[in-house]
Amino acid sequence: MHELARAGITVFERGWLSSNNVLLHGDGHEGAVVVDTGYWIHGGQTVALLHDALQGAPLTRILNTHLHSDHCGGNAAVQAAFSCAIDIPAGEAAAVDPWDEDKLTYRATGQHCPKFGRNELLVAPGEVLAGRWAWQLIASPGHDPMSVALYQPELKVLISADALWENGFGVVFPELEGEAAFETVGKTLDEFSALRVRWVIPGHGAPFGDMQAAIGRARQRLDGFARDPRKHALHAAKVLIKFRLLETQAETWSGFLSWVAGTRYFEMVRSRYFAAVDASQWLGTIVEDMRLRGALRIHGGTILNAQ
Ligand SMILES: [Zn+2]
Repeated sequence: MHELARAGITVFERGWLSSNNVLLHGDGHEGAVVVDTGYWIHGGQTVALLHDALQGAPLTRILNTHLHSDHCGGNAAVQAAFSCAIDIPAGEAAAVDPWDEDKLTYRATGQHCPKFGRNELLVAPGEVLAGRWAWQLIASPGHDPMSVALYQPELKVLISADALWENGFGVVFPELEGEAAFETVGKTLDEFSALRVRWVIPGHGAPFGDMQAAIGRARQRLDGFARDPRKHALHAAKVLIKFRLLETQAETWSGFLSWVAGTRYFEMVRSRYFAAVDASQWLGTIVEDMRLRGALRIHGGTILNAQ
């Protein structure tokens, strides 16, 4: 971790509602760059963390690894505070320019992201100067088709976003839409595996050192999902519910049901993998399972977040 600090890299480890933010400090000529900005309700915190770490130095750019709401939800707030540019993966321009919330998946996931405009496009494979270092851009589809990872070969640092965590990887969203993508997740892991890496900075969780061990765990998980895609689909539904409860902390059962009804992924998953089960019964089973595992609580007519 000290190595990262010495290289001018500050990681704000945020949790699950907001992704981590990676601040790449600049030097005399180059301004600082931040990779990903967290979820929108934490926008004020993200701005405060950046102000604190920058100590008055300029922040010139936001780079987004991908455009899930927990990675770019703070873009608008950070841009308003620092007047910085916003660079996004090239494949997302067609969704961002017209601000198409369906293509951007905010409707399908029942999440929110304040509108922002973009500047440059990140093309992978390619290279980008960010802070003091030139970073390679690596296409890392699977969790998200457009996602890019950043790799700095001299430092041997990989910013992996949600393509690789210390224990697993993010929900493989294309699979929920009926697009085969488990193999793509594996190919991205192959790409990472060929790199010499000392530190992985994931999208969620602390930076870690042993990338090959993490890749081994990720492959195991991936094999399980590929053998039984229903397991992955169920996991995805639980992740969406947990994310919702992290945001709201508590809501009435009827409010929760109307959120589920408006969140397209639930019906997509149920009709594809659990078509034999009635919709409310299916949801009830999931919620009960999450309650038994301690992920949520139910009190009277209210559903509450739990640790
Ligand atoms: Zn993501």
